[in-house]
Amino acid sequence: MLKFSKIQEIIPEKEISLLKKISDMGHEDIRFCTDSETNLKAIIAVHSTKLGPGLGGCRMWNYENNLAALNDVLRLSRGMTYKASITGLNLGGGKAVIIGDSSKDKTEKMMESFGQFVDSLNGRYITAEDVGMTTSDMKIINRKTNHVVGTPKSMGGSGDPSIVTAYGVYMGMKGAAKFLWGDDKLNGKKIFIQGVGNVGKNLINYLQKEDAIILINDIKKEKAKEIKSQFNVEVLSDEMMFNENIDIYSPCALGATLNDNTIPKLSCSIVAGAANNQLATEGIHDIMLKNKNIVYAPDFLINAGGLINVYSELKKFNQEKALQKTEEIYETTISILKKSEKENISSHRAALSIAEERLRYI
Ligand code: NAD
Repeated sequence: MLKFSKIQEIIPEKEISLLKKISDMGHEDIRFCTDSETNLKAIIAVHSTKLGPGLGGCRMWNYENNLAALNDVLRLSRGMTYKASITGLNLGGGKAVIIGDSSKDKTEKMMESFGQFVDSLNGRYITAEDVGMTTSDMKIINRKTNHVVGTPKSMGGSGDPSIVTAYGVYMGMKGAAKFLWGDDKLNGKKIFIQGVGNVGKNLINYLQKEDAIILINDIKKEKAKEIKSQFNVEVLSDEMMFNENIDIYSPCALGATLNDNTIPKLSCSIVAGAANNQLATEGIHDIMLKNKNIVYAPDFLINAGGLINVYSELKKFNQEKALQKTEEIYETTISILKKSEKENISSHRAALSIAEERLRYI
């Protein structure tokens, strides 16, 4: 049975103070979706539809508890609002999470059920793929709703967005290099990529053409092994990954890897990666990076390539144009870093203020 639940049914009573935090984040709509027949447990969060429909991927992850899933979807959906805004796209911010192990729990029926929930929001939320989801899942979701992008190219969709995302991260990295070193060439630079999934692997492709020295780590050891067999990379152990002297750290796994524990150990000049919500706490960890003179290329700015790619599907322009638009991330990164320097604020704050400005004057 499909059911929208109340927050009290999902989150323990003692955590209801969380409601205050939620209202402070300014979401327009948060839906807790359960379907007992397909075991679907999902949360859809629409942060803002000011600039357009709330578009953002659906992540399937084995969260520790419902609260962790809620926290993730709230932060991710808000990040999508800012990402669309700073990129100049007419889109709002939304995101969904499905609670479960994508390798064991996912079924076609579950995907269809999720599609029905998405459809019931009548286009205020448009879904796409994220961690734990694939273009094939989008094809199944499409049986129940048209409010889905990132379907396979064979269906007229824009396909896997990670190639364009990786290009944007590469552009952001080069922009940060130009700002810091006065030269955007990355040859000979030691770059550590944490997480070599779809985006990480495509990023290696770009970096290898420039003769960068690439170090990698992945929580799935077989994945790191597979990448090592295909590319000229060195695998860093879990113990060594934050203790190595490097030029650039590129977080391409999950969020919150810039935290109290990692920042004091980090020995790099630039952080530029694909992961969403890299800062464990905004307003604290961005400032810690600044105080350590580490140049941080804001995540929601430089990982916008994937969003541009799915936007191309909605607006019917081709991947070449999507790559052209993604290239603009290079100049935007430089201007955000200059603003941060001039106003003595963190680069994250500088990027947020540009995104907020567009939202304010719409
Ligand atoms: P993916 O699932 O294909 O790859 C993520 C990789 O990170 C996996 O190989 C996983 O094993 C590894 N990983 C997870 N936790 C780790 C840890 N603690 N240490 C080391 N490795 C770890 O996902 P993806 O599509 O490559 O996306 C990577 C990140 O970029 C995610 O945070 C995603 O939200 C973000 N992002 C992706 C896109 C896109 O187009 N795919 C767009 C924007 C943002």
